[in-house]
Amino acid sequence: MLINPIIIAGAGPVGITLADKLSFHGIPVIVLEKGEAPNKEWRASTFHAGTLELLEETGVTEELVELGLKAEKVQYRDRKNGLYAEFDFCLLKEETKYPYRLQLSQATYVKVVYERIKNRPDVDVRFQAEVLDYDQDENGVTVTIKTPKGTEYLRTPFLIGTDGGRSTVRKKLGVSFEGYTHEERWLLVGTPVPFDRYIPDLEMVNYISDPEEFLFILRVPEAWRFLYPVPLGISDEVALDPGRIQQTMQKALKTTDTFPIVENTIYKIHQRVAGKFYKGRVVLAGDAAHLNSPMGGLGLNSGIHDASDLSKRLIRIISEGANYEAEFEKYSEVRQKVAVEYVKEISEKNTRVVKEKDAEYRLQLQKDMNKVATNPVSAKQWLLRSAMIASVREQGIGEPPAVVR
Ligand SMILES: Cc1cc2nc3c(=O)[nH]c(=O)nc-3n(C[C@H](O)[C@H](O)[C@H](O)COP(=O)(O)OP(=O)(O)OC[C@H]3O[C@@H](n4cnc5c(N)ncnc54)[C@H](O)[C@@H]3O)c2cc1C
Repeated sequence: MLINPIIIAGAGPVGITLADKLSFHGIPVIVLEKGEAPNKEWRASTFHAGTLELLEETGVTEELVELGLKAEKVQYRDRKNGLYAEFDFCLLKEETKYPYRLQLSQATYVKVVYERIKNRPDVDVRFQAEVLDYDQDENGVTVTIKTPKGTEYLRTPFLIGTDGGRSTVRKKLGVSFEGYTHEERWLLVGTPVPFDRYIPDLEMVNYISDPEEFLFILRVPEAWRFLYPVPLGISDEVALDPGRIQQTMQKALKTTDTFPIVENTIYKIHQRVAGKFYKGRVVLAGDAAHLNSPMGGLGLNSGIHDASDLSKRLIRIISEGANYEAEFEKYSEVRQKVAVEYVKEISEKNTRVVKEKDAEYRLQLQKDMNKVATNPVSAKQWLLRSAMIASVREQGIGEPPAVVR
C-alpha cells in the first residue's frame, strides 16, 4: 500500500496499541515519542476482560496472560469495620475467556507491545521526537517536531494525539477539556512485601474506605501497591519522606515492620473529558481525550478501547476509501459517550465510596454496594460494566457510521 504513514504522537500504551493494530493490517505508522525510550513508569496495573478480548486480534493477549497475575475477586473494605462487599469474577465464566482482572504494570505492557512492533517494516518509532505544533489543510497535516538534530517537518494524512493528559495535540486543537481536579494528590507506594501477611483474606484488588485516609491496595507481579491521599498543605517532600511512608503503611497494616520501597510517586487526579475527540484530520485518543480517577482501573483500558475503535476506522478510510469525517464524527460520539457514561460513572462511584467523609452517607454507600455484591444478578451486571465488557457490547467498537460513504 503506497500511502504516507499515519503519525501517532506519543508512545504510551495507547499510541503503541494503535501502532500495533494499524501495522498489523499493513498500514504504515510513525510514532513520535518525546522520551528517550519506552516509559518505564508502572502506573496502571489492571487489564480488564473487555480489553484482553480486544487485544486478541494481534496476539498480544496470550503474552500478557503469561506475564500477569489473575485477580479473581475485588474487595471493598472499611478501614475500621473490615470487608463489606466482595465481587467474584467467576460470575463471568460464561461471558468471557478472561473471568478475572489481569494484574500487570503499564510499563510491562508498553515493553511487550514495543518489542513486538519495533522491527516491523511498517513501523517507525522515533524517540526524542517531540511534537511541537501542526497545521492541517484539506489534504493532510504538517507536523513540527523537535529532535536532537533540530526542528523537522513531517507530512501525514492523519495525526493521532496519544500524547497523554497534558496533550500538545489537544491544546492546539482548541477543544474544551471540562471537568475537575481532586483537591488532594494521591501517593502510590510499592513494596515487594506481601500485604496478605498482615490482612487475612486480602485479595489482589482492594478499595478501602476511610474519611481521613482511604487506601487502594493492588498487587502486580513485582510488588504490592498502596495508593493513599496526601493531605492538603503537605508538600511533596514531606509526603515522600521515607519515615512518613513507613508510618502510613505500618498504621494501615497494624505492624511495626519496615517495608523496602520500590516505587513512590505522587499524582494529581483529574476527571475531564474533551468536548470533541477530533477536528478535521487530527484525532485524540487515551488520556489526551479523557482523564479519570484510577479507582476502577479504567484510564489505560478505555484508551486501548479508543485505539481499537479508531484502528478499525482508519483501516476502512485507508483501505476502502471510507469518508474520514463521518468515521471520526462517529468515533468522537461513541468514545465520548463511553468516557462519560461508563468510565466516569464507574470511577466516580468507586472514588466516592472510599473517600466519603459523612459517616451516615458512607455507611449507606457501603450497604448499597453490599446489596449489589450479594445478589448474583446485580453482581454480574456490575462485573460486566467494571470489566468493560458492557461498554463494548452496548456501544460497539469501530462500528461504521450510518452516513453513506
Ligand atoms: C496511579 C495511577 C494508577 C493507574 N492505574 C490504572 C489501571 O490500573 N488501569 C487503567 O486502565 N488505568 C490506570 N491508570 C491510568 C493510566 O495510567 C493512563 O490512562 C494511561 O497512562 C494513558 O495512556 P496514554 O498512552 O493515553 O498516555 P500516557 O501514558 O501519558 O502516554 C503519553 C506518551 O506521550 C508522550 N508525549 C507527551 N507529549 C508528547 C509530545 N508533545 N510529543 C511526543 N510525545 C509526547 C509521553 O512521553 C508519553 O510516553 C492509572 C493512573 C495512575 C496515575
